[in-house]
Amino acid sequence: MTSLLFTNATIFDGNDFIDANCLRVADGIITEIGSGLNVVGDEQLVDVQQKWLLPGLVDCHVHFREPGLERKEGYAFGSRGALHGGVTTVCEIQNNPPLMSSPQLLQRKLDTLRGKSFVDYVPYGSLVEESLEHLPALAKLCPAVKCFLGCSTGAGGVADTATLKRWFAAAAKANLKVVAHCEDNAVMDAATAEIGDDPDLGIRHDLRRSVKAEVESVREAIDVAIEVGCELHVFHISTAEGAQLVVDAATAGHPITGTTAPHYLVVDAEQAHAISQNRFKVNPSIKYAADGQGLASLIAKRELAGIGTDHAPHPLDEKDRPYAKAPSGFPSVDLLLPLVVAAADKHGVAVEHMLHAVTLGPAQEFDFHQKGRLAVGADADLVIADPSLSSEVDAANLPSRSRWSPYDKQCLRAFPQQVYLHGVLAFTDGEVVGTAKGQPLFDDKRIVS
Ligand SMILES: [Zn+2]
Repeated sequence: MTSLLFTNATIFDGNDFIDANCLRVADGIITEIGSGLNVVGDEQLVDVQQKWLLPGLVDCHVHFREPGLERKEGYAFGSRGALHGGVTTVCEIQNNPPLMSSPQLLQRKLDTLRGKSFVDYVPYGSLVEESLEHLPALAKLCPAVKCFLGCSTGAGGVADTATLKRWFAAAAKANLKVVAHCEDNAVMDAATAEIGDDPDLGIRHDLRRSVKAEVESVREAIDVAIEVGCELHVFHISTAEGAQLVVDAATAGHPITGTTAPHYLVVDAEQAHAISQNRFKVNPSIKYAADGQGLASLIAKRELAGIGTDHAPHPLDEKDRPYAKAPSGFPSVDLLLPLVVAAADKHGVAVEHMLHAVTLGPAQEFDFHQKGRLAVGADADLVIADPSLSSEVDAANLPSRSRWSPYDKQCLRAFPQQVYLHGVLAFTDGEVVGTAKGQPLFDDKRIVS
């Protein structure tokens, strides 16, 4: 395997920018970090020319829809998109049938993906009635199980609090963390009944799926998790108030954490509404300027565990249906690095906090010890990006399958220029290179990375 020496780099190690400017790689592992290092033997020299050298990003929330709905994405396309966004590890949620409700289904999925992915991957299990008896076995194959507290695309919701308690208790007993989508069905149903088919308000996703819907659901999830002793991670938090509930629970000593998504930081409800044809229709809905600011300030204090894209691809003709019939979600893994840099710029947050939220933050949250950091012994998953270079998003040329983006034509900076996976160049100058070398992080009941 090629040995590499990166020199003249501005190194972010997952926590901070550090003084050292050289990094050595052998056999896919980082072997030395320092300054003034010289080429040894047949090492290949990579002059980073003062640009950023980052750990490969960890996207803790994507939907690649394989197996079952490959026409919308699939790993071959989705993982190419990931590289474009600087992502070298994806944590993936199956939210189309078959849900990952048994070890057999999860193992079959892992078998199906072998040799297809250009990035490392780790699917979550599903927390549904059918998976309860299998949770101890699932615990050996995945880092957490996904629970939908409210209805969203392709997956139901928990019927009542008694059911939620039973499910969370079963997860706690199996020592499995629950990752949750929190929106309250009753609150959303009441809002929909009130709005009715009002021609102006009827297409406001932020009113149907309101702040209150998320906050009440987060509160209930936290209360139940504390009562039954379950580890809880709230995904894609869209409100400042919901995020604060999570942070307060953590501060009180409970194993409760949360992440947000880039769109809640860089877009607000008015902007989302102004961009027509449901492009930013997503669950939870995009909220308000103060929510984005509040979420960004919690990331600046490193009180949220990170940022995951919630990459949820749909063909454009489906998104172009009338509001009520258009699916929720949109592709975004292709743009993760430039989007978090844009979030830092928008909110005046030091960029290292946003970078931490897509590297070491999620890696620590899900115990991926080899990922999200530049340190001796870690996987040589690396991203080179130039923060001084901006360019327009060209949606038609993004590698994931949808070929559209709600961010089309937006000017962003710090697009990844080169990405290495396990010390091998996987992406350069806008193109994926080489074969699919991504590995599962959990495989055959052992953690392989
Ligand atoms: Zn999702």
